[in-house]
Amino acid sequence: MTECIFCKIVAGELPADVIHQDEKTIVFKDIHPKAPVHLLVVPREHIPSLRELTPQHDDLIAHMMRLLPRLAEAQGLDDGFRTVINTGRGGGQEVFHLHIHLLGGSRLPGMA
Ligand code: AMP
Ligand code: ZN
Repeated sequence: MTECIFCKIVAGELPADVIHQDEKTIVFKDIHPKAPVHLLVVPREHIPSLRELTPQHDDLIAHMMRLLPRLAEAQGLDDGFRTVINTGRGGGQEVFHLHIHLLGGSRLPGMA
């Protein structure tokens, strides 16, 4: 049995506040939001991080990228939004199932 919490959410074994699902992805609210809107875009397939991507995932990645502005629009983020992918412990990754953070709803500080 998988110990991955995002695989458990994908399988419906753990609850989540799901706001979008399709054949490739599931999107739910982050349990500890860092902004008024904080979603996680998660592939159904278990891929630990960006490091494990192969050319086989190209369609999936394109799909996730193109989904982001549609989700942002549906959340009313007309003024813009931020996307973040943490990779590896040094990059702040805590859940080792690839995901894109989608943040917005307040003026986010600059990255500098
Ligand atoms: P990262 O540090 O990029 O791996 O981000 C993991 C994110 O997953 C964090 O922002 C957590 O708040 C979030 N998270 C952890 N467990 C859950 C859960 N059960 N449901 C929703 N979000 C979660
Ligand atoms: Zn997983």
